[in-house]
Amino acid sequence: MPRIHATRPQMEILAWLLIFLLLFCLSWRFHWHEELDEFIERHHQYPLDHALLALNISGFLGLIYSALRIRDLSREVDRRLLAEKNVDWIACHDTLTELPNRRFLDSICARAMTDQRAEETYAVFSIDLDAFKKVNDLLGHDHGDAVLKTVAQRLSSLFPREHVFRLGGDEFVILARRIGNPDLVALGNRIVNAIGKPFTFNGAAVDLGASVGFALYPENGDELGQVIRHSDCAMYVAKKQGRNLVKAFVPSMQDELAKRIRIEGDLRAAIRKAEIVPYYQPLVDLKANKIIGFEALARWKTASGEFIPPSEFIPVAEEAGLIVELTDQLLRCACIDALSWPSELVLSFNLSPIQLSDRLLGLRILKILGDVGLPAHRVEFEVTESAIIQDAVTARIVLDDLVNAGVRIALDDFGTGYSSLSQLSSYRFDKIKIDRSFIASFETNDKQDKVIKAIIALGTGLGVTITAEGIEEESQRQRLQDLGCDIGQGYLLGRPAPIEEITADQIGTRILQRG
Ligand code: C2E
Ligand code: MG
Ligand code: MG
Repeated sequence: MPRIHATRPQMEILAWLLIFLLLFCLSWRFHWHEELDEFIERHHQYPLDHALLALNISGFLGLIYSALRIRDLSREVDRRLLAEKNVDWIACHDTLTELPNRRFLDSICARAMTDQRAEETYAVFSIDLDAFKKVNDLLGHDHGDAVLKTVAQRLSSLFPREHVFRLGGDEFVILARRIGNPDLVALGNRIVNAIGKPFTFNGAAVDLGASVGFALYPENGDELGQVIRHSDCAMYVAKKQGRNLVKAFVPSMQDELAKRIRIEGDLRAAIRKAEIVPYYQPLVDLKANKIIGFEALARWKTASGEFIPPSEFIPVAEEAGLIVELTDQLLRCACIDALSWPSELVLSFNLSPIQLSDRLLGLRILKILGDVGLPAHRVEFEVTESAIIQDAVTARIVLDDLVNAGVRIALDDFGTGYSSLSQLSSYRFDKIKIDRSFIASFETNDKQDKVIKAIIALGTGLGVTITAEGIEEESQRQRLQDLGCDIGQGYLLGRPAPIEEITADQIGTRILQRG
């Protein structure tokens, strides 16, 4: 306990002074000096007076020594106190932004639990930066640190009298006292706007977003800690629904979070046990009526025999940082399977948007192809427009790595993004896959039919192969063939199937059946 250390030397000095005063008074009152004189006189044969003098001098010197020692001790205690204060500060603060950290927040929560008289009401805001990882990856950690410091300053000046915490990474929490009935959504939007202002460092401008969730104390929980978990939950929902959103906590959000945590845990285990495998759906040359390759589509069959669709687990894998491991595993497996097919057949593999912002993706893919021994010209990667729009600079670097190695690139789900045409003119794709939503209705919808005709003409003009996804009816296949579409894919031509069903014989049989 620092306080006890700090007062001990002074206490000791005081104690010695009191003893001295007591002895002085006693000797005065009872004339001890006269008795001492008589005692020395009575024993004059001994040099008691000299011994007494020596005792006095050594006592005096001892006193000086003790005073100096006490002074040193006192300084030492001050130093230790300061060091302890620094350690306490470091333990409770984030050294980069100088904001209080999670430990500080935990201590406030613990205090709020024991302080029964506290009648304070709070709004807890949980804030997570959107696209912060991109800043670190693209501009380096120095820029990332500078962004975090600026965010801390902006939040602190928005809430000058409240506690702003950095809980680690790009996560911040604000504990705001509620006075009156503040408009908390508007306050949340002010946080989003403050973070949304551009950051400029060394001439480089960075745009960030923020997802904000908030919960109320005590309305959303008897304990402050629980309310913080609820505001986190609201923030998670805001993040899932897009950038720059503010969400108030409602209890049903917990079910969503619990489901997501369960899927994430199961997904981790499934990846570890290699339970997610590629199924293969044929890509058919519509003119020659011949299978030219297969698209690998991830399939997760749980222990209970239930199939979880990729649309459900791929986003979870992306968010949980499992997509790299999952893709490596699936691609390796698909490449090994593709080696058993006739050598003219191509393997088409989907890359998720988030992966195109990973500069090392190209190298990792090429390593897998090299390890397995599948030639690059037999592989094609399907990317969506949103993947390229998200981080055009890195996407281009990754795609260039792959193209330079001889891999082909297909633009998947064409027509569902925002800037299809600008993507086509800014990057050289080998193939365009018309989204199946167009195919489903083009026979009955004259406009859709015209759009498909235009896309096919565009492909011919650009020298890009056109694939139509989702062909389910013979009439659709016939019409697409008549329009000059190169490749078809859909349940009519073959459903996704496990590797056991994709043997050279079966490929032959399928072609004969269709022919
Ligand atoms: P996609 O790449 O556009 O794949 C085509 C989807 O359409 C597949 O759904 C396929 O089963 C389905 N499909 C094919 N023919 C028909 C048809 O005639 N009618 C209908 N209604 N549907 C048809 P699936 O397998 O559920 O995959 C959905 C999406 O998940 C894929 O869309 C792809 O974007 C993504 N995905 C699948 N596997 C992977 C993977 O290994 N990695 C990544 N990153 N994404 C994957
Ligand atoms: Mg695809
Ligand atoms: Mg598609």
